[in-house]
Amino acid sequence: MMKNLLQKSAVIGITVALLSSVSSYAQSLWKTALNNKDVLVLSTLFTAQDCRDKINTAEGLDAAVKWCKETGLTRVFIESFRGGYYAEKETLVNARDRFRKEGFDVAGCVTTVRVGKNGVGGWGMTPCYTHESTVKEFEKIFEYTASIFDLIMIDDFLFTECTCEDCIAAKGDLTWAKFRSDLLVKFSNDHIIRPAKRVNPKAEIIIKYPLWYDYFHERGYEVVRESMDYDYTWVGTETRDYNFDIKPGGTVQYNAFFIMRWLDGIGAGKAGGGWIDALGTTPKYYVEQARQTVLGNGREIMLFHYGSLQTNSNTYDGWDGTPIADVDALKKEIPLLFDLARLVRGKALKGIYLPKLPNSEPIKEPYIFSYLGMLGLPLIPGHELTSSDPSVIYTTHALKDPSFSSKLYSVLNSGKQVAVTEELANRLSDQTLLENKNLMVFKSGDDPKKFLKMTKEEIQPLRDRLLAPLGIKFNAPVKVSFYLLGDSHIVIENFNDEPVDATIELPKVTDARQALLIPSGGKAALSKNGNVVTLKGISPRTLVAFEYRQQ
Ligand SMILES: [Zn+2]
Repeated sequence: MMKNLLQKSAVIGITVALLSSVSSYAQSLWKTALNNKDVLVLSTLFTAQDCRDKINTAEGLDAAVKWCKETGLTRVFIESFRGGYYAEKETLVNARDRFRKEGFDVAGCVTTVRVGKNGVGGWGMTPCYTHESTVKEFEKIFEYTASIFDLIMIDDFLFTECTCEDCIAAKGDLTWAKFRSDLLVKFSNDHIIRPAKRVNPKAEIIIKYPLWYDYFHERGYEVVRESMDYDYTWVGTETRDYNFDIKPGGTVQYNAFFIMRWLDGIGAGKAGGGWIDALGTTPKYYVEQARQTVLGNGREIMLFHYGSLQTNSNTYDGWDGTPIADVDALKKEIPLLFDLARLVRGKALKGIYLPKLPNSEPIKEPYIFSYLGMLGLPLIPGHELTSSDPSVIYTTHALKDPSFSSKLYSVLNSGKQVAVTEELANRLSDQTLLENKNLMVFKSGDDPKKFLKMTKEEIQPLRDRLLAPLGIKFNAPVKVSFYLLGDSHIVIENFNDEPVDATIELPKVTDARQALLIPSGGKAALSKNGNVVTLKGISPRTLVAFEYRQQ
């Protein structure tokens, strides 16, 4: 979460020599990457500190170019400012020109930590946006960066937790969420976007949102207005390792898919890519971040960040990460990720509508959307209460809309199948709605994390009920995700460390064949019996896609 922070660049690891022989495989990976740029781009970031320490010499740049090509990257982000440090203009310009000459796309980046006056409270290194020194420094940073780059990404520290006396006075009677959202929207226009475009009329700016979607508005990430004002939206999809039996922190894999799709809808075509990292992350989770980003319709995967990816190990939030091993594992999957991107692109998601209203509160259900996806439900993330899909799940976030009960009444009367969480059921202002035959209350318990312990028997009624309007039945253990892509493809990913079997009953299937398996050594035996497609023995941590035809 927010601790990603500066420690991102302070991660301790063992640096190893960059130079190794360029294999023909690596050369072909670079070519494959260039040939597939139309569907998916892989990129990395040179932080301002990487600019200072890694690519400030000709040798350093040579090594960086070589590594990027070997890794199948076709774009680089070169950062001008992070943590109070400005990278030198000469280094930035040299790197920009060299990478361009080598055939890379090149963009800039800024990380807004230690800018002007540090905020009071919270983490303490994001700025106080009401202070004049912060205004001046922001303008300076963005004028500087826009003088070098036409495209600038802002890392996910464009938020505030400041509770200084000036901020309290400026807030007045507003809630912190409302005050901070309004503040950051205005600040973005006046002191980021406008100064950058004044210096460089071609400058375009990417707002990159963090992973912690349920708390954005409380710290000033207001996804509707900010997505409108910025040129593009990106998001952190660095879900990393987790095991709730060991510690409470961490994020499930499906979070990356959910947030990419949710923001893609809000940004209406502005969504670019997802940003993954190797902090406290081991290979099997690292590659899953990338797969979920692609399934989330991400057009680009950025590997944060060059300097840290040259190290063997790190420790982050109590977890041990293995960057070099992570990238090695990813490289083997990159050609398959291009295939996955091609399979995903242009196909509408089908299934169960799952809305989270922008700026909605997670009343007792933080990140429930990510956990629902771990239950083998083909979900369609959305940001409005209703859609044309035949079934829908509502969570307490729906209460953001004061007229939710009357809207729910209409949805039920239109014949859709609806599931509501227990907490939402308890809070409905019109309790008679619970008697409607189209509504089921999902026994969601008191903590979405506990979904991962549910048995098939506990999940099956929810799947059966919501998939019935689609004529589909799905059977698999928990921690298996399920995606319906258009009317022709199904993707299933097994997040378990054991093999699993899955069966999918579809209306009138005439043909089914395997379309993709990731990793290449993965296993899944596909068979069809009538309208039932069985995938037997899906190996651990494996993604399988199949194509089918219906009469
Ligand atoms: Zn303040």
